[in-house]
Amino acid sequence: MYTLPVRIWGLTGNIGSGKTTVGRMLSARGIPVVDADQVAREVVEPGRPALREIASRFPGVLLPDGSLDRKALAARVFADPAEREALNRIVHPRIAEEVAGRMAALAAAGEKIAVYEAALIVENGLQQGLDGLIVVSAPPETQIGRLRLREGMSESEARARIASQLTQAEKARHATFVIDNSGSEAELSEKVERLVSRLRQES
Ligand code: ATP
Repeated sequence: MYTLPVRIWGLTGNIGSGKTTVGRMLSARGIPVVDADQVAREVVEPGRPALREIASRFPGVLLPDGSLDRKALAARVFADPAEREALNRIVHPRIAEEVAGRMAALAAAGEKIAVYEAALIVENGLQQGLDGLIVVSAPPETQIGRLRLREGMSESEARARIASQLTQAEKARHATFVIDNSGSEAELSEKVERLVSRLRQES
């Protein structure tokens, strides 16, 4: 038996640009979306090998119920690139394996298109292994407004987060499609509708 290949489109964008919203809209239109954040949470659930490795490399990061204390772990790796690298070496291969497994399952189920949603596609050079890249962008003032509304983030924190990421222009250079999300959600929905037609045409 052989399986049809599935075309995998990356979906990315900077913080507060709207990539999760676009992912939800794509999924509502029948395009399967694999969310890297979600997979990253699942691979460190209790009972998974990555959690055991993390607990032995970073003692004291488990909660009493055996689940990961994300805040404690984040505090340990936040300011220390070597520690962050050690964590990534444990987690990244597991995420890659899980994503590959899900994509293979989608291909086996006959899906022609799937979307891989992740914040750090261009930063990690992953676009080269994808069939195309969708970048969601919004002006910084809009990003800041949304972050303040969603998380009560202060303006200076929102600006610092935005400044810590690759610029949208840099991401857009690698894009097959750029979705401008500076308007309303209704406008975004229309753009996603057109995007879905294009993705289906290209597959
Ligand atoms: P992050 O990287 O922080 O997760 P993101 O790029 O995934 O951000 P979303 O979570 O999709 O962005 O959107 C950020 C916030 O802005 C959410 O609260 C979302 O509901 C809201 N939002 C997204 N698009 C629009 C829009 N066009 N109009 C108004 N609000 C929007």
